[in-house]
Amino acid sequence: EVRVRFAPSPTGPLHIGGVRTALYNYLFARKMGGKFLLRIEDTDQMRFVPGAEKYIQESLAWLGISADESPWKPGDCGPYRQSERKADYMQYALDLVEAGHAYYAFDTSEELEAMRERLTAARVVQPQYNSITRTQMKNSLTLPEEEVKARLASGDPYVIRVKIPRKEEVRLNDMIRGWVMVHSSTLDDKVLMKSDGMPTYHLANIVDDHLMGITHVIRGEEWLPSAPLHVLLYKFFGWEDTMPQFAHLPLLLKPNGNGKLSKRDGDKLGFPVFPLNWENQETGETAAGFREQGYLPDAFVNFLAFLGWNPGDDRELFSLEELVEAFSVERIGKSGTKFDIEKAKWYNEQYLRAKSDQELANYIIEDASKEGIELKQEVAEQAAGLTKGRITFPQDLWNESKFLFVPLTSFDEDVAAKKWNGDAVKVLTHYSEAITHYEGTFDAETAKTMLGASAEVEGIKLGKVMQAVRLAVTGSGAGPDLMEVFAILGAQEVSNRIQFALN
Ligand code: GLU
Repeated sequence: EVRVRFAPSPTGPLHIGGVRTALYNYLFARKMGGKFLLRIEDTDQMRFVPGAEKYIQESLAWLGISADESPWKPGDCGPYRQSERKADYMQYALDLVEAGHAYYAFDTSEELEAMRERLTAARVVQPQYNSITRTQMKNSLTLPEEEVKARLASGDPYVIRVKIPRKEEVRLNDMIRGWVMVHSSTLDDKVLMKSDGMPTYHLANIVDDHLMGITHVIRGEEWLPSAPLHVLLYKFFGWEDTMPQFAHLPLLLKPNGNGKLSKRDGDKLGFPVFPLNWENQETGETAAGFREQGYLPDAFVNFLAFLGWNPGDDRELFSLEELVEAFSVERIGKSGTKFDIEKAKWYNEQYLRAKSDQELANYIIEDASKEGIELKQEVAEQAAGLTKGRITFPQDLWNESKFLFVPLTSFDEDVAAKKWNGDAVKVLTHYSEAITHYEGTFDAETAKTMLGASAEVEGIKLGKVMQAVRLAVTGSGAGPDLMEVFAILGAQEVSNRIQFALN
């Protein structure tokens, strides 16, 4: 059975790249009829941010990405928070020490710093604690056994490091990148257990993936450099047979393709890079989210799915179920994907337009009521039908149709300067008179015929004054179909508005 996991660290708001990782894991699990797990990797006390876990939970719930097993819906492999599993990790590290694949290191931070300085002075490009340097440092490989025992017994601070073999080719067959080969001399003796008794990411991640029966590790490309170490750890533990397959997802790039999209880009680029609004409970620092900006969850999921994957044909609109059906890891690209906010908007527009006027009317009614305006369902539906071709976000519906329901207070000055003239005044005066006495049904057709007639009577080409007519009735130079607007307003209101504009 396929079992995949999303393993975020609660160190702040979940970044858009993390949300995509969660989505791909979810799609893969559903497609394969497997299970999608969520594990909180919270062993780094220094970077823990209160509220971040809840944020992760809410973000995924908003998008409909539901986990089969998680801290909030435990399965058989719990707990699903690493901080609650901490008692177990030490034994795994000790097993590696026992087997000669890890060792105790007693170096102080001053000693480590001195080593780095020595290596830098000797022009070593990447100073590492590795098979060469470890022979000069204080650890259970260099100190006499008696001293090691004495130090451990006296409670001297120590870490446990993995012992990277000196000459070994480490290979892994990544589902997206193919074979990746790394020589062990480029890896360093990473810390597995910290001096505070907490495991590092590497140890906890491998142990938990193993204990939770993970079959595929689908994660961001930034973890690719750690993968060789992970492969070695599987080997050292003797878990090679059940080692998961790896799939490292391509980076999300800035819109100009210039580097990785970072958490801080949101402010600079003027659009969110987080799913939901965020506020750090301790620092008060805030960030904007897609949900609050008016993105619909299904549109957003559709957009996200295409950031690095495509179905192989030109279809673009997919519900979550359709994505599950179409998804395959083979169709995930190798190269980074530019984050295109215009595409996100396009998706939102498509999903909004696909909604019925009835549904859209609810947004209008709700927003209007916030301003103390009570709208009937029927007029709200008319307004929705009129504006839905012009909007990107639900809140645009009310913004774009508000002019129908509140008296005009101002007119666009620029349009007025260019288009308001004697001819316009003549046509408008005639039209206003004509429609105020009109008693039939004032539909778009009638409104137009009568306007044409007024222009003809005055001997003026309608096209020349059309923008002035729009200005008089709506206050601006652009907007939805004007004759539909007239029909919704009714003859009397149109006439009144023209009178107001003329005075
Ligand atoms: N906790 C890691 C992160 O925050 C998980 C990486 C992985 O999936 O192995 O991204």
